[in-house]
Amino acid sequence: MKNFDWIVVGAGITGATLSYELAKQGLAVLLLEKDSNYTNATRYSYGGIAYWSGTDNFSTQLCKESREMYHQLSEELGQNTEFRELDLMLTIPIDKDPKTITKNYQKFFIKPQLLSPQESTEIEPLLNPDTISGCLKLPHGHIHPQKTNNAYQQAFLRLDGTIKYEEVTQLLSENETLTGVQTNKENYHSKNVVVCAGGLSRSLLKTLGITLNIYFTHSQLILTSPVDTNLRTLVMPAILNRLDIEEKSGNSELKSLWNRPNDEIISNVMEPGAIQFLDGRFCLGQISQIRTNPYTKLDSKSAEKTIRQGVGKVLPELQELPGKLHHCLVAFCPDSNFLVGKIDTLTGLHVFSGFTSTFVFAPALAKRFANWVIEDDKKMPSLL
Ligand SMILES: Cc1cc2nc3c(=O)[nH]c(=O)nc-3n(C[C@H](O)[C@H](O)[C@H](O)COP(=O)(O)OP(=O)(O)OC[C@H]3O[C@@H](n4cnc5c(N)ncnc54)[C@H](O)[C@@H]3O)c2cc1C
Repeated sequence: MKNFDWIVVGAGITGATLSYELAKQGLAVLLLEKDSNYTNATRYSYGGIAYWSGTDNFSTQLCKESREMYHQLSEELGQNTEFRELDLMLTIPIDKDPKTITKNYQKFFIKPQLLSPQESTEIEPLLNPDTISGCLKLPHGHIHPQKTNNAYQQAFLRLDGTIKYEEVTQLLSENETLTGVQTNKENYHSKNVVVCAGGLSRSLLKTLGITLNIYFTHSQLILTSPVDTNLRTLVMPAILNRLDIEEKSGNSELKSLWNRPNDEIISNVMEPGAIQFLDGRFCLGQISQIRTNPYTKLDSKSAEKTIRQGVGKVLPELQELPGKLHHCLVAFCPDSNFLVGKIDTLTGLHVFSGFTSTFVFAPALAKRFANWVIEDDKKMPSLL
């Protein structure tokens, strides 16, 4: 059996970028993905790149690096990521004070511009000025998430990387050292495994008795067919209740709920948002439910109605666009922008997951991760 230098578990955007960067360093890499249909968070994402979201020196540096990377990424990967710069319009509800909301954004290294409802509709004519007290405008990037993922994977294959569609059922270890993984088809050997399993990272790590501060939300959204209606910007709410709730998930009281095997419901929020891809399709979102069972069945009829009503309030023309509801898991860490590093208690095990703004942080961090592996493993952060 072929021995790999690295095994990457999960081929969403985190696994694809990291596999590519590791292979670029000349390493033999196996990328394992359980779902050849890619019903994952990457496929159902808006694909926004929050360049502005650095809050300290390190995250600001990553934002700047990623902005540079995206400009030449299609060329580097040999496939079009559909990258473009566009405005992010963060809507402020009519009953909220715009100045107070603006203050919450002062922690970011690029500050938003506060627009009146009238100014907002000049930039995004589909917005309903009667339901907002204004918008915060930020310079954002945008790519097609699944095309970008595919571009990374094709470039990885050209570097002699291997992709197999198999589910990792267990991580294998001996004497506190990782030896490989077991899939639903066979065993693969490697001294290094990195978990990029998105919302399922938590349960996969648990097979080894490892509990990290990584959780997941159930997200529901609508994808439409191509339509002629033209949305110029990416629209999202300025108050992201989801982030507040994600932060609270790390509280000791809520943490104990995550260890219960039944389906504990921690929260349920609707955040009206919309993006149009270059082929005319829309992604309308999104409901985020924090429930402790990753395999729970959700009510799709009521979710579709809630999303349509929510989006219809701010973007009335989009309310009735024909489309289909989808569901995926999205990983998050309550107290940091990502969970990236090695697990010292099990030599060879690594995690690259739980990003808040995955499209801005993951590509730049994947490059650094591969450099740590090649140049100096001591620089790799320790997670346990
Ligand atoms: C509606 C919506 C809008 C969003 N908008 C944005 C945005 O504008 N900007 C942004 O930065 N982020 C956004 N996000 C979040 C972003 O999409 C995710 O954070 C990101 O795609 C996560 O990538 P990932 O690789 O960690 O996970 P995923 O894309 O979920 O990939 C994980 C993969 O691991 C595989 N896997 C799991 N377990 C196993 C196993 N045991 N064996 C093999 N394979 C396994 C899964 O099948 C899956 O393919 C949005 C998300 C949603 C739902």
